[in-house]
Amino acid sequence: MSSGGVARVYRGAFAHSTRDSALRVLTDFVLGVNEQGKIIFFEDGQNVESLSHQWGFETSDIEWLEPHEFFMPGMVDTHIHAPQYAYSGTHLDLPLLDWLNIYTFPVESRYEDLDFATDVYTKVVKRTLCNGTTTACYFATIHTDASLLLGQIADDFGQRALIGKVCMDCNSMVPNYKEQTEECKDETDRFIHELLKKKYALVKPVVTPRFAISCSSSLLSNLGKIAKNNDLHIQSHISENKEEVQFVKELFPDCTSYTDVYVKHGLLTNKTVMAHGCYLTDEELMIFHEKGAAVSHCPNSNISLISGLLNARNVLNHKVKLGLGTDVAGGYSPSMLDAIRRAVDTSKALCIQDAELQPLSYKEAFRLATLGGSEVLSLDDCTGNFEVGKDFDALRVNICVPGSPIDLFPGDDPEVILEKFLNLGDDRNIVEVYVAGKQVVPFS
Ligand SMILES: [Zn+2]
Repeated sequence: MSSGGVARVYRGAFAHSTRDSALRVLTDFVLGVNEQGKIIFFEDGQNVESLSHQWGFETSDIEWLEPHEFFMPGMVDTHIHAPQYAYSGTHLDLPLLDWLNIYTFPVESRYEDLDFATDVYTKVVKRTLCNGTTTACYFATIHTDASLLLGQIADDFGQRALIGKVCMDCNSMVPNYKEQTEECKDETDRFIHELLKKKYALVKPVVTPRFAISCSSSLLSNLGKIAKNNDLHIQSHISENKEEVQFVKELFPDCTSYTDVYVKHGLLTNKTVMAHGCYLTDEELMIFHEKGAAVSHCPNSNISLISGLLNARNVLNHKVKLGLGTDVAGGYSPSMLDAIRRAVDTSKALCIQDAELQPLSYKEAFRLATLGGSEVLSLDDCTGNFEVGKDFDALRVNICVPGSPIDLFPGDDPEVILEKFLNLGDDRNIVEVYVAGKQVVPFS
């Protein structure tokens, strides 16, 4: 099918979020993708004849979904540490700062070894793609060449990705895992320059101070300038754990809050995503809203490291952009389905403590994992839902695959099927994954 630029046409059930609605389930819709991987039409199935005339395709070329299948947008992991995938599922017995010193920094320091990096980075990109993560915002390590390699691997497998070479010039506990301030600045420049020079269609650099504790004031200022001069994304961590918040207060006595540390160094912009935010005050959330900065909610990690419970409802009430993150490996699961479930669980746990609070619905969590995540990464002009003009980033979900963890019963309509998938499904049900119109799972 090549006439009129139509590459593929699908007909069946679709589920996505829109600006006005957390979940829209469309039981008989028809969607067209062009040669550039963009959605060129998305309309009710009854319009198929006129669409075929308008776009010049044969209705016999339409690919029909089975009744137990649907398309949903690819999921957006707004916070994941690729190097930590090497030990995901283990090392969950210490609080954040000890966990970093004892488990994380020693492992991350090994990524100077590009063979080790190739192995882990290939596995994490493949694993997240299989689990439906079409866009990932990655932390790498302080090593520029290994970070560039992560970008190359994401490009090779067709994942949309923001890649951050980690910046840290303070580390008293594991002193071999840090850079000198000047070196860190120069290497960040080199990383950005070299990654942009590759001209990857879907892979971009993100300025990545690890967090306020690991960075001198001078480094933070320099990173703020680098982000501004190159109009780049910024990612870091904020207010994850009480001990960390206290430590930041001592390190930056001139700042009025943790948020103020990033504001003062030019790091809180409308292209910033901060992970966690469990202990952000209402005043800080108002600053996030004013700046257009976003929060990545990483509920598995917050519970696994006994960090805290983010009140997602309060973040949403402050009109702060909110998405979900796996935070591998503080979060033990690389699956965004897990992040959806833990976000709802966390919200319900908070409701046990406060009966006035409105829990997150599965529909809202679905939105956070798709359109919400794309807003967090300022990529909502090209991904996040099935709006015409966006890239076709999509998961084809089949509930009835062999060995499916889901059973269907008479009367299970598409909305029920979606809810069952979000709560009970896994990568076996994600039979095809598309990024910018290109099929990336199964792997070619
Ligand atoms: Zn993290």
